[in-house]
Amino acid sequence: MNQCVEPIVGKILAGWRYDISGLAPEMRGDYEQHFAECERCRGRQKLHRIIDISLIVLASVSAGAFLLAFAAIRYFEPRHALWLELGALAGFALSALIWLVVAVATPAPMAVVDAAMIGARHVHDRLPAEIRDRLPEELRVKITGS
Ligand SMILES: [Zn+2]
Repeated sequence: MNQCVEPIVGKILAGWRYDISGLAPEMRGDYEQHFAECERCRGRQKLHRIIDISLIVLASVSAGAFLLAFAAIRYFEPRHALWLELGALAGFALSALIWLVVAVATPAPMAVVDAAMIGARHVHDRLPAEIRDRLPEELRVKITGS
C-alpha cells in the first residue's frame, strides 16, 4: 500500500472516515486537493463508502426478509406461530434500527445521491439537443451544476 503524501491531513481524514461531505465548501478545498494527490486516502475513501452502502443494502435486505418471514408465518400459521411472529418482528426492528444508524451516522445517503446525480448527468449528456433544451432551466442547473 502506498504511503499517505501528508500523514497529518491523512490522519484527520481517517478520523472523519474520509467523509468531507459535511464540510462547508470553502473548507473542503484543501481536503479535496489531498484526495486528488493522495492515492492511499482516495482508496480508503472509496472503501469506506462501499462499506457504508453495503451495510445499508444489507440492513434493507434483512428487514425485507424478516417482514417476508412474518407474512409467511401469518399465512401458514405453523405451531408456535406467536413466538415465530415475535422473532420475525424483533428481527425486523433490529434491521430497521441498523438501517437508521447507518443512514444517520455515515454519509451513505450522500454517496447514493452523488451516484444518482452522476447517473442523471450521464443520461442528460446523451439526450438529443432538442429534448435537452426543453428541460426546465432549474433542472438542468441541478444536474450539470452549471
Ligand atoms: Zn493521504
